Amino acid sequence: MEYKNLLALKREMEKCVRCAACQAGCPTYEISFSETLSARGRIRIARALLSGELKQSPRIAADFEMCLSCLKCAEACPAKIDTVALFQAARADLAAAGGMGIVKKLILRHVLPFPKRLDFMAKLTGLAALFYATAPNALARFLPYSSQGRRRTTPRLLRGNLRGLVQQRHHQGPARGGALRRVAYFSGCMTDLAYPDTGLNVMSQLEKAGVEVVYPQEQVCCGAPAWFAGDNETSRELAEKNVEAFCDLDVDAIVVSCATCGSMLSHALPMIMEGDKRAETLAVKVIDFQKLLVELGAEKEFEKSPGGGKLRVTYHDPCHLKRGMGVSAEPRILIKSLPNVEFVEMAGADVCCGGAGAFTLDHPEQSARFGQFKARAVEESGVDIVVTACPSCQLQLADALARAGLDTPVMSTADLVAMVTSDGAMVDGMHGDSDD
Ligand code: SF4
Ligand code: SF4
Repeated sequence: MEYKNLLALKREMEKCVRCAACQAGCPTYEISFSETLSARGRIRIARALLSGELKQSPRIAADFEMCLSCLKCAEACPAKIDTVALFQAARADLAAAGGMGIVKKLILRHVLPFPKRLDFMAKLTGLAALFYATAPNALARFLPYSSQGRRRTTPRLLRGNLRGLVQQRHHQGPARGGALRRVAYFSGCMTDLAYPDTGLNVMSQLEKAGVEVVYPQEQVCCGAPAWFAGDNETSRELAEKNVEAFCDLDVDAIVVSCATCGSMLSHALPMIMEGDKRAETLAVKVIDFQKLLVELGAEKEFEKSPGGGKLRVTYHDPCHLKRGMGVSAEPRILIKSLPNVEFVEMAGADVCCGGAGAFTLDHPEQSARFGQFKARAVEESGVDIVVTACPSCQLQLADALARAGLDTPVMSTADLVAMVTSDGAMVDGMHGDSDD
């Protein structure tokens, strides 16, 4: 069998000195204490596959699939190995050899690259999710993904998407005398389909900070579900569509409000479209909206707003934002600047929530265990609201809290700012629950 993706990263895996620094904090290692579920073990397997010492098997594919791509090992590794890229390469080679499940392949290849089909599938999922919202707990245990006998929290998918709302929206324009910058907003599918209010709040806050915001309607999924599943063909198709949608825009930055999209566009895109200058140019323009707001001094304006009742707020660091894009101080600066808001640092704020895209569907039991840790940390912090900056984390945290019997709302930083500064935006569905 040919391992062309792994072969391209042979040097990377040879850097491993087997020090085991990557084991501390690795979620899959910490729940299993299995060497093959740590970065060191996975690298060893990858080397053995390349040398022919090991043959491909479903067990090996499962070990790579179990990785959450949380970057904790990459952060700890003294050899600075790009572990997440390595494990993606392994999944791509194993998927090419063993194939992907037919349903997964159908969704990745024939739904994900087409926004209208994706929207249609989201609406069908939203209808199915009504059962989760209305089924009594006694029945809920028989629904898929509810093995622990608790209802799952599902996203609100039956409303209009952000793509449509942007077209109807009154363009606010830059607020403080001319645009400081002109930026393009890449919303990502989750914000487009499940959290459109968040997308509107992001755009509105950027405009209030003096930025002109354009929303290219041609944008498609960032490709993360395909990339992390090892479907390089679909990743490339999506990357090309996004490069086409953004490369000719006269903008200073591409703003993201989803950590995974940001990490994909700034880090994975140049790998997916290797040698394509347009991809490199686009990648360096990617910036998280919170980082841009702080660069523009938006927090000084927030401080002046009247604010509402007193709130205690904590923040969850999405893995791809803190470790992928180096953004963790900025959301805290914004939250702390809000009047009547007390920021409380919770234990393990940067520990992976266990959402990790399809991981929560592929491994619901393990995902729920990671969620339990976060729910405990939130409960101990005694806060009124949990804030994060990734829609996938937002949904996972809302689900984990609901399963732990807590009703603490979870929202994006953009939603909290909108709520506290009362700039007209609503925070509908802030628990991330379904359209009942
Ligand atoms: S920390 Fe890095 S060098 Fe050390 S065992 Fe893990 S992957 Fe290898
Ligand atoms: S990316 Fe996360 S889950 Fe995967 S090996 Fe590294 S620390 Fe473990």
